[in-house]
Amino acid sequence: MTASHQPTVRVLLVEDEESFIDALSVGLAREGFAVTVARDGAEGAARFAAGEFDIVLLDLMLPKMSGLDLCREIRSSSDVPIIIVSAKGEEVDMVLLLEIGADDYVTKPYRLRELVARMRAVLRRREHPVDLDGEESSIQRGPVRLDIDARRCFIGTDEVKLRKKEFALLRLLMENPGRVLTREVLIDRVWGHDYVGDTKTLDVHIKRLRSLIETEPKAPRYITTVRGVGYRFEVSRDEG
Ligand code: CA
Repeated sequence: MTASHQPTVRVLLVEDEESFIDALSVGLAREGFAVTVARDGAEGAARFAAGEFDIVLLDLMLPKMSGLDLCREIRSSSDVPIIIVSAKGEEVDMVLLLEIGADDYVTKPYRLRELVARMRAVLRRREHPVDLDGEESSIQRGPVRLDIDARRCFIGTDEVKLRKKEFALLRLLMENPGRVLTREVLIDRVWGHDYVGDTKTLDVHIKRLRSLIETEPKAPRYITTVRGVGYRFEVSRDEG
């Protein structure tokens, strides 16, 4: 038995910038991850095929094979969690990334703590996939609690009244903590064929939810906007 009861999480880091490789190798090892490094896309594909990994951190701009192509290739044979790490200012189609199967993405420069929180959130989702038939009777994230059966929402001990679609939207976000949900997914899952009008309907609902659950709706802490992509319910530090 090792000191830790948790099995070591095996990470494949596909990255060509030495400064990131050094920082991540050290930082992730300190957090208890076992890191294998691949320095270009082709090496990433080879290492992935030859080893067993619990999660993949994938840079987009890579020699020999792009992160996008490697993500596609890995997805064709595996459902391993993939987090894309993109450089700041890089022209990235986040919607496309999520469509081809990336689980999340982080933009450089980032804090190690943020990356690790996202890694743990993705891994936890894989371990405890959301049961869409709703076995869970309540969901608690930070001070926000949803009582699913009674369709009630509480902030601490105070109840806030939500309309049907608002509740469905908040539930979907809270069931996927730390995960970017695209506008298309949110609209499809909450409204489906009922969605009428322009795409503003979603934003109006988000705005109202923020006014109800956020301390500062203009600087939201829980429901954050991922520009051009969608929304995310943030993983709080104590949950990460
Ligand atoms: Ca790169």
